[in-house]
Amino acid sequence: MPDDGVTLPRAAAPARPALRAPDVHRAEPIPDAAWDEIERLLASGDLFRYTAASGAPVALLEAEFAGLLGSRYALACSSCSSAIFLALKALDLPRGARVLVPAFTFAAVPSAVVHADCVPVLVEVGEDLRIDLGDFRAKLADADAVLISHMRGHTSDMDAILSEAGARALPVIEDAAHSLGTRWNGRPIGTLGRVGCFSFQSYKLVNGGEGGMLVTDDPEVAARAVIMSGAYEENWRKHPGFQNSFTHWQNRLPLYNMRMQNLSAAVIRPQLVEVERRARDGLANHDHVAARLAASPRFEVPPPLPAETRAPDSIQFLLRGFAQDAQVLAFAAAARARGVEVQVFGLSAGNARAFWNWQFLPDLPDLPITRAMLRRACDVRLPARLVREELDLIADALLAAEAETA
Ligand SMILES: *Cc1c(COP(=O)(O)O)cnc(C)c1O
Repeated sequence: MPDDGVTLPRAAAPARPALRAPDVHRAEPIPDAAWDEIERLLASGDLFRYTAASGAPVALLEAEFAGLLGSRYALACSSCSSAIFLALKALDLPRGARVLVPAFTFAAVPSAVVHADCVPVLVEVGEDLRIDLGDFRAKLADADAVLISHMRGHTSDMDAILSEAGARALPVIEDAAHSLGTRWNGRPIGTLGRVGCFSFQSYKLVNGGEGGMLVTDDPEVAARAVIMSGAYEENWRKHPGFQNSFTHWQNRLPLYNMRMQNLSAAVIRPQLVEVERRARDGLANHDHVAARLAASPRFEVPPPLPAETRAPDSIQFLLRGFAQDAQVLAFAAAARARGVEVQVFGLSAGNARAFWNWQFLPDLPDLPITRAMLRRACDVRLPARLVREELDLIADALLAAEAETA
């Protein structure tokens, strides 16, 4: 950090005119501890995770993340999507394996399945934003693996999914990109299936700009994923705690080079201590706005499942009694005029979360339950840093916009 009086641009809060909805895309500042570490890395040029014999920031992050979740193994990756890809490859699924994927997810998720030479089989998602278990059961018979995206941190019924997939000995991967801090019967989401994948992209709970993490308790999956992530030659020796068949897999698996670099780890590590606080504040913020929206019967916020303790950084609600898409768009425009951006997943052109836009998939099916939900499901960001006054401005704007379009 320079000590010549120069102030570095640390995302100081700009003066905000009163009664203006907050900028929900502005990030929290990165904790001070990151700055000293980044300066040290820049001064030494030591940016590659495998240069140092031990103690590289990426390796330290992996150990800390595994400890945070109570997982045996953690592998840092370039993104959650690359973690999902590596998970599918590490499970050694045959070419053309059929992978069940919720039809409400981010386009990068079925893309990772395609990239892994597997076939995504889209499963209906209901109005509670969770996987439709009837459709899941119907499609399970022909499946080779299950990939569950907990979209916007809404956990699908993992007890049912794990028992039904387990009965058929199918591996379950959790796409927990947006679920860091969420718990299911007290256990961290992402640790319930064979493999869990997390994201550090800027709009997730921990902001690394980009980045991902794969966690598993399975030593064989971990070994294969580490090598394929780009641990060439004997760099797997720099993954402490891995005592398994690395020597067997060395040079027998392709290297996809999806590693994380040290600067990302330096940004992410000091935020891990913030996870619990952000999860708690995010839930309180969400529940406050949900309680305000309950004033109108036209807003329906999906409740958590009984086993679930959520860690939201946004709120989703279904619009009730809006017969026409035009009314929904008028509501979104009225909210925007009040400074609140409402994303209607299924009504914004080219939305990456609307399955009909995934035209890279051959034979795109129609999924009428998911389609209907996406045309009425609204999304508003509520980052954990917002204060009560800001939350009330957002709730006021949504209620006024609804009254105006009623
Ligand atoms: C953000 C997100 C992803 C993609 O994560 P990246 O790190 O950007 O690859 C995948 N799935 C879900 C549910 C997400 O929210």
